[in-house]
Amino acid sequence: MHELGLVNYVVKEVSKVAEENNVSRIKSVTLEFGEVSGIVTSYLYDYWNWYTKKYPVFEGSELKCEEIPAVTWCDDCKITYSTVAYGKTCPRCGSGRTWLLRGNEMRIKQVEVFEDGGEGSGELDAKGEYRP
Ligand SMILES: [Zn+2]
Repeated sequence: MHELGLVNYVVKEVSKVAEENNVSRIKSVTLEFGEVSGIVTSYLYDYWNWYTKKYPVFEGSELKCEEIPAVTWCDDCKITYSTVAYGKTCPRCGSGRTWLLRGNEMRIKQVEVFEDGGEGSGELDAKGEYRP
């Protein structure tokens, strides 16, 4: 159940950066997470809707999620392959000496904000990596 922890982290992190930059409203937050991170997006959206109600800066904001494909490296034949398709066993040589290169991470990719007093929007630099 790390979805709640992730939402908690994102809300705190983005609120902090919004405050530092005198931003009063967030337009959208884009999260990026790995295919094998175990994150269930439907939970994320639910928690997001529930949790952000406590923070006016997030009113009407949108949560967007993007998936990073998982890739595994084989230490014996030096190739990379799709983790989801083949798991921990190399499809070329059958070795088990393999390492997950990416696909387990979760991070804030982009934060869009409404600029005060105008129709325009900008971006906040709130790129952080979440470690449960
Ligand atoms: Zn191999």
